[in-house]
Amino acid sequence: MAEIVLDGIDKIYAGGVKAVDSLSLQIEDGEFMVLVGPSGCGKSTALRMIAGLEDISGGTLRIGDRIVNDLAPKDRDIAMVFQNYALYPHMTVEQNLAFGLKLRGTAKDEIKKRVAEAAKMLGLEPYLKRKPAALSGGQRQRVAMGRAIVREPQAFLMDEPLSNLDAKLRVSMRASLSQLHERLGVTTIYVTHDQVEAMTLGDRVAVLRDGKLQQVDTPKRLFDHP
Ligand code: ADP
Ligand code: ADP
Repeated sequence: MAEIVLDGIDKIYAGGVKAVDSLSLQIEDGEFMVLVGPSGCGKSTALRMIAGLEDISGGTLRIGDRIVNDLAPKDRDIAMVFQNYALYPHMTVEQNLAFGLKLRGTAKDEIKKRVAEAAKMLGLEPYLKRKPAALSGGQRQRVAMGRAIVREPQAFLMDEPLSNLDAKLRVSMRASLSQLHERLGVTTIYVTHDQVEAMTLGDRVAVLRDGKLQQVDTPKRLFDHP
């Protein structure tokens, strides 16, 4: 687990679009921070910069005690969950969960242990031998989360992970996510355009508009003084 500190972060895309404008935000160790705002306000860009999937144009990004501006994604010790799941279609659930650890050279016994724990936590035990095509949307999203969990990273980054699910499933997955966070206590940054999701999940919510931070506060205080 680690604190994540954005200090005056900018993103200027080729062509001159300033997608993120001097964003400063401190996410505490173990905190669940939600980035919310209308489409195009820079949420995904901010998250992708933290993940290392997009270059940072200005400012400094710190994860734990390291400035990570120039570190490759794999060296940042964070795990990202995408809205389209990004599962390997030819692998079983079990293999999908184990793959990242195998690549990193984790010992076989340790992989087995972590996969079993994650599967239990996420209710995936009955589906370990299935391939993604034979899973529902919610089950696929659980596998995507499982892949992040088994890595035991310092932080989770999630980009609209529930937006491809139907309304009923979104509500139940929200509850699962809250439980998971309570249990693991891993620093999480969660991007959504859904205000209800932001209010129910976030320890704090950061509201972005036109690439700038408008306000950041607890859901209760944002709700009482919108
Ligand atoms: P959000 O996630 O809040 O919908 P984005 O971070 O995707 O917002 O986009 C922020 C702004 O940056 C938008 O104006 C978008 O069009 C622009 N943008 C996003 N990605 C790129 C890109 N690869 N190249 C140029 N402009 C981009
Ligand atoms: P989302 O809002 O769900 O992130 P988008 O459809 O906005 O998805 O963006 C999909 C992809 O296109 C992203 O990789 C994003 O960086 C890129 N993109 C978004 N806006 C632009 C843009 N104006 N120019 C180039 N690429 C863009």
